Amino acid sequence: MMLLNDAARPMATSLMSRANEDPLPWITFVLGNFPLAVRHPDNPEYVVTIDGRVFGPQSSLKQGAQKEREGDTGYRSISFPMANGAKSCLLHRVVVSAFLGVQLLDESLDVNHLDGRKDNNFLPNLVPCTPRQNAIYNRDFGLAATVTAEARMRLAEVRVSIDEVIVKLESMHDEITRAAEDLLKESNRLFLRFLREREGIQARIRSSLVEGPEIRDGLGPCWVWTRPLKPNGYGTLTAMNVQKDAHAYSYYAFKGTREQIRDWFWKGVKHLDVCHECDVRHCVNPDHLNLGTRQENVDQMTSRGRKPLGPDRWNTVLDETAIREIRWMLEQKLWTQPIIADLFGVSQPTIAEVKSGRKWGHVHGSQKPGFDLPLADVQEGENPRFRQAEMNGKSVVTNENVRLLRYMKASNRWSNDTIMLAFPHIGKRTFFGIVTGRSYSNLTAMSDFEASSYLGSLPPVDFSVDGADLRAPREAKRPMNEAQAALLKRMLLEGGWRRSTLARHFGITETQVSRVALGKVWSRLDAAPVASLVELAATLPPRDAPPTR
Ligand SMILES: [Zn+2]
Repeated sequence: MMLLNDAARPMATSLMSRANEDPLPWITFVLGNFPLAVRHPDNPEYVVTIDGRVFGPQSSLKQGAQKEREGDTGYRSISFPMANGAKSCLLHRVVVSAFLGVQLLDESLDVNHLDGRKDNNFLPNLVPCTPRQNAIYNRDFGLAATVTAEARMRLAEVRVSIDEVIVKLESMHDEITRAAEDLLKESNRLFLRFLREREGIQARIRSSLVEGPEIRDGLGPCWVWTRPLKPNGYGTLTAMNVQKDAHAYSYYAFKGTREQIRDWFWKGVKHLDVCHECDVRHCVNPDHLNLGTRQENVDQMTSRGRKPLGPDRWNTVLDETAIREIRWMLEQKLWTQPIIADLFGVSQPTIAEVKSGRKWGHVHGSQKPGFDLPLADVQEGENPRFRQAEMNGKSVVTNENVRLLRYMKASNRWSNDTIMLAFPHIGKRTFFGIVTGRSYSNLTAMSDFEASSYLGSLPPVDFSVDGADLRAPREAKRPMNEAQAALLKRMLLEGGWRRSTLARHFGITETQVSRVALGKVWSRLDAAPVASLVELAATLPPRDAPPTR
């Protein structure tokens, strides 16, 4: 069902659940609302069409759709590799699982051919149902042994409708084929383009982050994403007009092998996730990222106590039980919405809709989930909204941050600019809100003693204790010219120079260097070519550290 827009999805669910009693609305609904072709979620290198054909992988594109074979039972099967090692699969199961989101091998479900013809695998003719529903259908629509005249007439009616759909889809045959081919070709086009534009994407990633804290010794600092975040806390990046998770782009741009990148564009992230060793969702440091199956990802997080074991509900459609379970979890006020959303494999806004009752209002009550509950991520009595804002990455302002910031400000040793740089996730408005006491008025500054444990991570002092300005006398600020700015950008991209070194070299402040690094100034200017570093080597300051890749 994930293929339909939000407005059509409840409609489709409801029509499909009733299709065995009254198939006509379902048959007409499918045609106007489903796409002509979709990628199969289990084998995304295969594309399935609304008229029941299967294409792919791309290497076999010229051969057209997969050949159907007729089995002893009268059902059609096609070549289609499955998780259990089988190499072929019943066609109607492939079609239904591609479009309707049901499991390919769910044996508790039958797939009913509404018109009774086993070789008609057009989507409108197929409905997943329980064996009991299937039996009822056969009784009411004249497929059972003992049929009434009335039942036979109803079946005839269904067949007329389906035949109309068949005529319509057959007239669209070429259009549907093109839709399938486009889907297949697009993966390859993007894959090749990514290889070509890899360096540019690396540069974009480097210019969209600030260095964060080191979560565990030896891990190195996190690269904190400064561009938009998704509600679940992961950064997003749009490159080549395709929006994907920023950390995934980072992994593949910096570390991905050709094979891995190909699989990424061909198969999506259905089978493999890019996992964070640091558990910081908006970190994009490739050294903190590795590739694993979704289960390994969950296992890893669980072993670090970060994420509970819930049922494997990724990509499922919420059913009524799930809605009640979500309500129960919301009522406990122990989990933030992103955690609950993750657990049920949906987005955070969906959870918000369950909470507000805007959707699923017809499902009543709540019930305790039948699986192990995750660790609470909200302290009892704490306002979950506060923690949620934190998880969304909109504001990672902790009480500790506020108290340390107030200490720095009160001690009069750091300029406002320096303090703001030390808390890159705190915006200017919030900063001044904290400084003036308009926000977080309940929190006091840390004492010298409390703050002493942070001294190692604080920036160098730029005022003396008694308030005299210790900073190098500000030279008359020489604005950089374009060539200098382009060179600075290249040096930032190459890495190895401290910002203080760069600031000295270009005669600007460190803040200005950071502003260039973050793209706040000179954002449209391209970095100077790599060759210029070699040309100018004699005039450049020595590196403070080896270049970063
Ligand atoms: Zn990290």
